[in-house]
Amino acid sequence: MSALMPTYARLPVTFTHGEGVYLFDTEGRRYLDGLSGIAVTGLGHAHPAVTAAIQSQASRLVHTSNLYGVAPQEQLAERLTQVSGMDNCFFGNSGAEANEAAIKLARLYGHNRNIDKPAIIVLEGAFHGRTLATLSATGNRKIQAGFEPLVGGFVRAPRNDIAALQAIAEHNPDVVAFLAEPIQGEGGVLPLDEDYLRQVRELCDQQGWLMMLDEVQTGNGRTGTWFAYQGMGFTPDVVTTAKGLGNGVPIGACLARGEAARVFGAGNHGSTYGGNPLVCATALAVVDSIVGEDVMAQVERKGQLIRDTLGAATAQSGRVVEIRGKGLMLGVQLDRDCPDIVARALAEGLLINVTAGNTIRLLPPLIITDEQARELAEGVAGLILDL
Ligand SMILES: *Cc1c(COP(=O)(O)O)cnc(C)c1O
Repeated sequence: MSALMPTYARLPVTFTHGEGVYLFDTEGRRYLDGLSGIAVTGLGHAHPAVTAAIQSQASRLVHTSNLYGVAPQEQLAERLTQVSGMDNCFFGNSGAEANEAAIKLARLYGHNRNIDKPAIIVLEGAFHGRTLATLSATGNRKIQAGFEPLVGGFVRAPRNDIAALQAIAEHNPDVVAFLAEPIQGEGGVLPLDEDYLRQVRELCDQQGWLMMLDEVQTGNGRTGTWFAYQGMGFTPDVVTTAKGLGNGVPIGACLARGEAARVFGAGNHGSTYGGNPLVCATALAVVDSIVGEDVMAQVERKGQLIRDTLGAATAQSGRVVEIRGKGLMLGVQLDRDCPDIVARALAEGLLINVTAGNTIRLLPPLIITDEQARELAEGVAGLILDL
């Protein structure tokens, strides 16, 4: 019996090291990483600038406390607000914690407006994390079952249905915020319509609701802009991120703008590790590398290359129903469930993932070359043809 709690059904492989888009296992076998540890290692494995930042910061100062000034935390906040158009940041250690901060911020915003039981609109199929509040916000019964009583104060709405939100606005005076992923990741790589999101922005303005976007997975260059909302013609009031921000060191951030940026005061929220010197110096190197090395400008094109290659190679088979997503966040929906495909991919040296039963999820490192992107797409296409 393993000494680990069996919360994961793990694949039979253990990696010892990585380099760029490749991982190497205990047997010395090489794998092309099409998943990036679920959208985490956007700069690939052992990226020189990230390694240098970890080493240099670790040799000087790993942790002090948020009781004191933390210079790398201030620099990272400055950098993130520059690239996002937001005003300020709170740092935690994960995506769930970033969302917890956003949920608390929205509740306090409501209480400041004399709403005693503030409610947050969340969507069907959403995934916001595994803590009690974030699993309650999640729209997936499997994640909630057995953990009741759920945290209250969430109102569920269907995706892409502005009329449903207008109806909630008419009947529920307790609503203070809307929270959603621009592209639902765990839910099956389902993008929300940009028109819908623009209408949500307008409705939030009319109603005095905070528009909060969970960009834990879509953020940090994954879709070709720093955040997915950039280029859609609006800015949210609150945005959360994590995954790709630290390229593997645990960090989450809740960013706010305008009135939302003035909600939290001293004592309202906190985290012992959150935003410590080591993770912030690392994340700063990640942001600088993604922005500075012109990584993002290539993301859209590389995503298209994967779509085109995979689409062409599988067209005859009729097995691919749809390829969804944006940039290097891709979902390949098949006409059938594909429970064995992840293990078969592994045996062929490809790391992929499946969500929603029938959708292959590809989240390769942003630094993937054209040749490697083609190799990934052709490999996945081969697996689909062999189903
Ligand atoms: C992964 C994810 C989370 C949870 O992040 P953790 O770091 O696992 O807590 C929350 N929201 C979205 C959209 C995610 O993809």
